[in-house]
Amino acid sequence: MDHTEFRVKAKEMVDYIADYLENIRDRRVYPGVQPGYLHKLLPTEAPEKPEKWDDIFKDVDQHIMPGLVHWQSPHMHAYFPALTSYPSIMGDMLSSALNVLCFTWASSPAGTELETIAMNWLGKLLGLPECFLNEKNDSPGGGVIQTTASEATLVSLLAARTRALMELSKLNPELQAAELLGHLICYCSDQAHSSVEKAGLIGLVRMRYIESDEGQSMRGAKLEEAIAADKEKGLVPFWVCATLGTTGSVAFDNLREIGQVCQKHGAWLHVDAAYAGSAFVCPEYRHWLDGVELADSFAFNPSKWLMVNFDCTAMWVKDSTALHRTFNVNPIYLRHENSGKAIDYMVGSQNEDIKKLTLKKINIMNDIDHPKADDNKVDNKFNKNNGVITQIENRNITKVDAVEHWQIPLSRRFRALKLWFVLRNYGVVGIQKHIREGVRLAQKFAALVLADPRFEIPQPSNLGMVAFRLKGDNAFTERLLKRLNARGYIHAVPACFKGIYVIRFTITSQRTTNQDILDDWNEIKIVASEILTDVFGSENGNIAVVKKPRISLKETRELNATFGTSLLLANSPMSPKIVNGTHAAICDYEQVLTSCAQTFAQLKMEPKDSPEMRRRIRGIKMCGKKFSLDSCMDMVQGMMIEQPLPQFEEEREDASNGANTETIEAKIC
Ligand code: PLP
Repeated sequence: MDHTEFRVKAKEMVDYIADYLENIRDRRVYPGVQPGYLHKLLPTEAPEKPEKWDDIFKDVDQHIMPGLVHWQSPHMHAYFPALTSYPSIMGDMLSSALNVLCFTWASSPAGTELETIAMNWLGKLLGLPECFLNEKNDSPGGGVIQTTASEATLVSLLAARTRALMELSKLNPELQAAELLGHLICYCSDQAHSSVEKAGLIGLVRMRYIESDEGQSMRGAKLEEAIAADKEKGLVPFWVCATLGTTGSVAFDNLREIGQVCQKHGAWLHVDAAYAGSAFVCPEYRHWLDGVELADSFAFNPSKWLMVNFDCTAMWVKDSTALHRTFNVNPIYLRHENSGKAIDYMVGSQNEDIKKLTLKKINIMNDIDHPKADDNKVDNKFNKNNGVITQIENRNITKVDAVEHWQIPLSRRFRALKLWFVLRNYGVVGIQKHIREGVRLAQKFAALVLADPRFEIPQPSNLGMVAFRLKGDNAFTERLLKRLNARGYIHAVPACFKGIYVIRFTITSQRTTNQDILDDWNEIKIVASEILTDVFGSENGNIAVVKKPRISLKETRELNATFGTSLLLANSPMSPKIVNGTHAAICDYEQVLTSCAQTFAQLKMEPKDSPEMRRRIRGIKMCGKKFSLDSCMDMVQGMMIEQPLPQFEEEREDASNGANTETIEAKIC
């Protein structure tokens, strides 16, 4: 393909991509192909002679597309989102075309620097403490883009392992690395992702799974108990992985409690927020981040919910020296004269003295890995002389001197470009809106599930995911999921909470609409009815559905003298509508409020808060009229936000400008 053909064909490709994404809703989300289908369609050998582009691309349409799961579809509800977006696609297009490898600063200065800048932007956007950022060149913390959350977890475990082994070898110079390794133990919750277990397997360390509480959250007390017991046995706790947003139910481990336990026992705390991390762009979800300053490393995937296409895992560390010590090699091709003047994701040291120091340091690490007869002499000499180990602990090796390694592979793609494009093209406001919309749609779906007596949500889920099931035997839900996937209109995967089988329904697409959710729910109901009819001969299964009698307007008026027809109108876009109009009309204010509050709590909705909302609530309270449903919902939110949230800037300004509450309320009424 020459330049001329590329110009033509690449433009056609852009149209193809735009058509694909624009019309993706019409595609069957889950393919109907059988294993091996493609082998039957494609030749067994690569072509001898060059083929025409049009012929190649015809095969994409005919053979490849029918075998794909359409991850960008609004009807894709499996796993977690893996979103892309136009600015991200453009970032990847450019990055693929440039194909620069950003390992050292010198290998592509803009690539390295943009990554640092974008990671600082992103860290601030999430509200991460300053210690994780790298705004000053001598700052020990910083962000790096890794390939996957699994890799970030592994990197952090390996760094913590190195730190622990170095400490242990100081205390036990007579012991060999393999013996020391056998004493190490790390921890995660029984809800942690399988990649955490995998990291332990690769790292050759024991892993203990802490039983999560009834909300699927790992708590400090249980961790403390396990660590204390393990220490009794002579084990050394060195690494704990906390999850923010578990894969099964988007549960959150208690970071503050866990962080305090880690500090007490000198263990490295890694936070795996692969999916939920994106939500922290919205301040209302940051309560789950409480205690993050106690963590040593934090990672999440912008490639999941933040519309930056795969691969892109944002990882921050408080002190990157732990990584450099772990991946410490110093080949000549990684050295450059500007080492230390900017962040380097991979660099060797130029300084001759430091080179020696580095070599000694490597010796120590090699000693740990491959002990030699005179090991002890080396270690003891270093310890006595306040040498390498102590210097590293005290960060006496400055950035200028040190070898830097932030990851396992050498080569690194220019991934910062797509992240930077997305952050700029959506802006903070656009990204927050996207996250909030995903949560709103999940809550809408949850409300639909709760309104159908055949279904249940056994475990409250958070953010953009709802885990639901058919009441009764697990087998019903298993059949439901199997049939849904086979029909291919929607795609979901299961999870299991303490023996209870559920379907995970995740909002994955930024293009999902209310109608998509209603359509999907309809599909689920149809299939559920089929299954229940097969088993019980009735679409309601064995659940006695009490048909609520229709209450006429006349009866309603008789029951409630102050009833006005406007009460039936839920007229603001508050969603989901959780109490029907008739119910609101015939119940008294307290009942409706309680009912709203219960449903609100069950849905685990986050109260909306804004100066407008607060004024509206004050107005509702003051007007003395009967409340509409929406007013009741707002009142419930008001009750939830009244106490804990700080004043808004605008409110403070109002107060300092002398606008007292009465005037504001008077304006509304
Ligand atoms: N951690 C959690 C909590 C996850 O949910 C996932 C995947 O969904 C991972 C880690 C693995 O992510 P990755 O595919 O980026 O390794």
